[in-house]
Amino acid sequence: MNKPAPSILELYPEETRDAAALLKKAVPLMMRHDIPPNPVHYALWYTYCKGVEPELNRRLDKTVADFDCFPAETAAKLFRDYIIHGELEEARAGQQQVIELVDDIEGNVSRSILGSRNYQASLEQGLSALQEPIIDDLPSVLNELQQSTQLMQDQQDKFLYRLCAAQEEIKNLRTQLERAHIAATLDSLTQIFNRSAFNRLLEQALSNDHQGLALVMLDIDHFKQFNDQYGHPLGDRVLQHVGHLLRDLLPPRGMAARYGGEEFCVILHDCLEPATAYAFAEKLRIKIQSLRIKVRRTDEVLDSITASFGFAMAETGDTFESLLTRADDALYQAKRSGRNQVNPSSTEAALSA
Ligand code: GH3
Ligand code: MG
Ligand code: MG
Repeated sequence: MNKPAPSILELYPEETRDAAALLKKAVPLMMRHDIPPNPVHYALWYTYCKGVEPELNRRLDKTVADFDCFPAETAAKLFRDYIIHGELEEARAGQQQVIELVDDIEGNVSRSILGSRNYQASLEQGLSALQEPIIDDLPSVLNELQQSTQLMQDQQDKFLYRLCAAQEEIKNLRTQLERAHIAATLDSLTQIFNRSAFNRLLEQALSNDHQGLALVMLDIDHFKQFNDQYGHPLGDRVLQHVGHLLRDLLPPRGMAARYGGEEFCVILHDCLEPATAYAFAEKLRIKIQSLRIKVRRTDEVLDSITASFGFAMAETGDTFESLLTRADDALYQAKRSGRNQVNPSSTEAALSA
């Protein structure tokens, strides 16, 4: 069991006058060794001057001899080992107690480290208001504290500056990541999912719940011929139109992808009956058939775009490959049966027969 954190009185039983005298010794030492003033460091060097932990003094002497800059981890460890003798929770409690001690001595120390500006201002005020010193040498202690607080403030300013720079960097990285993520998942021509993203999504959907999941596949009819006759750029516009239609007609939780050149896939949820998937595909088929594409060069309006559809309902044990194969077979049958139609997979066809 952890022992309870020592109380402030147990840690620092000295009277204010004695505490001020110890701090008066500690602060110049910290400044000499370029130790940033913070509650942990105050506590360490205060205890050093008190001389009650010879091993701590030995280790502090060694640390300042070995390092130019007092390592934060060493400070934290020494604080744990020699000041509060305890666990992390106690360390936090101890740190708070040291803050309270410094507060107590000066009467008006900001409780938050970032409040050091107020601390600085209040020290300046205190100094000028101090007509008759209550304690010998208190003004010089205050002076030293004021200087060390200025140092602390400068460090915090530097730290805040670095933090702001890091935040800016993180923001840029996040934007880059988002862009990379979009590029990795979306088809650039149609702005719907690409094949690999769709495979992942379908796999994920199947691992969650097969119930009510349907896969619809569609392929534009005689598209090679269309490209040959009207050119590839116009073919691209057709693909973009189909992408728009898919996005517009997609029911909630539905997902659409350009699966290959002129082939598209849709995942539908909540299809308790094959008729629901059929109705969706049929609606899309009619919309594609109703597309009117203007050839800019000649002002001719094309009304000949159609697509063929196959769909399959997910069954227990389906993998994304098995479900895709059934939908693809159904699509192949739609092509063979004359194109521009919706065809259920053989399983759904047998059920409704
Ligand atoms: P079917 O009715 O049997 O599907 O005939 P099809 O001509 O549509 O099928 P086929 O597989 O023979 O040809 C597909 C065509 O799709 C060939 C290719 O030029 C076209 N295509 C594939 N990707 C793109 C693309 O990104 N843009 C354009 N414009 N055409 C594409
Ligand atoms: Mg085709
Ligand atoms: Mg095709």
